Amino acid sequence: MSVDLGPWLDAVPRAAAGAIAGSRHALVACHENPDADTLGAALGIAAIVEQHGARATLVSTDPVPPLYAFLEGMDRFVADPDDAGDYDLLVVCDCGSLDRIGAVVGRHEALFERLPRVLVDHHASNTDGGPSDWVDPEAAATCELVALLAARLGVPLEAGGGAMAAALMAGIVMDTSTFAHPNSTPRTLAVSAALVAAGAPLSEISRRLYRSKPDAQLRLFGRVLDRLEVTDGGRIIHSSLSDADLAATGTLSAHSEGLIDLLAQSETAEVAILFKEFGPESTRVSVRTKPGGVDATVLTGAFGGGGHARAAGATIQAPLAEARARFLAEAKQLADAVSRPTGA
Ligand code: AMP
Ligand code: MN
Ligand code: MN
Repeated sequence: MSVDLGPWLDAVPRAAAGAIAGSRHALVACHENPDADTLGAALGIAAIVEQHGARATLVSTDPVPPLYAFLEGMDRFVADPDDAGDYDLLVVCDCGSLDRIGAVVGRHEALFERLPRVLVDHHASNTDGGPSDWVDPEAAATCELVALLAARLGVPLEAGGGAMAAALMAGIVMDTSTFAHPNSTPRTLAVSAALVAAGAPLSEISRRLYRSKPDAQLRLFGRVLDRLEVTDGGRIIHSSLSDADLAATGTLSAHSEGLIDLLAQSETAEVAILFKEFGPESTRVSVRTKPGGVDATVLTGAFGGGGHARAAGATIQAPLAEARARFLAEAKQLADAVSRPTGA
């Protein structure tokens, strides 16, 4: 059985679809510190391009976290494109701003400068969108947009023996926490129904991404949750993860994925924050906020970051303790400004 996405296809911009369909060799880039949405979207774009008889090279400045290795095609990502490659298009997936592509751009400046570009993204904070880009903050995931692009261009979602459908489903499951977040819309569910009909193993993907972890990762979660702090009369919950925690538990930085969503389960907190040491001079911050409360893009935007209203992040060029103090001061200002009807 297949699901008809016809009613949703008018939203697909002609310029973006035309550029992707016309490419002979696309360079497809995802964001640094990649997640299932950016990786799945990039694999989906590659499948579309390849169904048109063309080639795709997939680039991720950071290694693909082991969590995503179960999805077919994850071994295709390279850290660096070939400066002499015959690419004719750059497709940037799930990047709220172009600098999110990361350090690879600095290593190949002329190449990234030269290529015509299509941005496919869903970050509310994105201001880098040009006329041939598709930035839709209503989309739950960039993979939702890529599935519509495929359908619009007549590429069967079954392409690659179900591999494309699985990759796109993974991005949607990741960014909606398996349809639990308020970003899931009727269109998200229609696209997901089409992906499941095309062979995406929804339940297995959800289990892998959210309900299965190496024991070392559970130990890391235990350490970080044990030292959580609640401030501002319960309106802020935060914790920190140091390089020493990774060393003590034998985990990678990527194993912090999911921790912020546990902190965000606090009944009282308007703002949940996880500070992650990233070397001696750099701190990564993840933020989650309650519906109707603090806009997470405003908080992270004050530190050069971005994302979505309920989930956002930033990288601060300061040691963990200093970054934490500055960030908590800003979070307090915003959390204090939230007013809720009493008894709510
Ligand atoms: P995370 O907390 O890492 O799960 O990220 C939550 C959201 O914020 C995602 O949509 C990310 O794309 C976005 N985000 C995370 N880190 C940054 C950053 N340094 N700059 C801009 N956006 C970010
Ligand atoms: Mn992402
Ligand atoms: Mn995303």
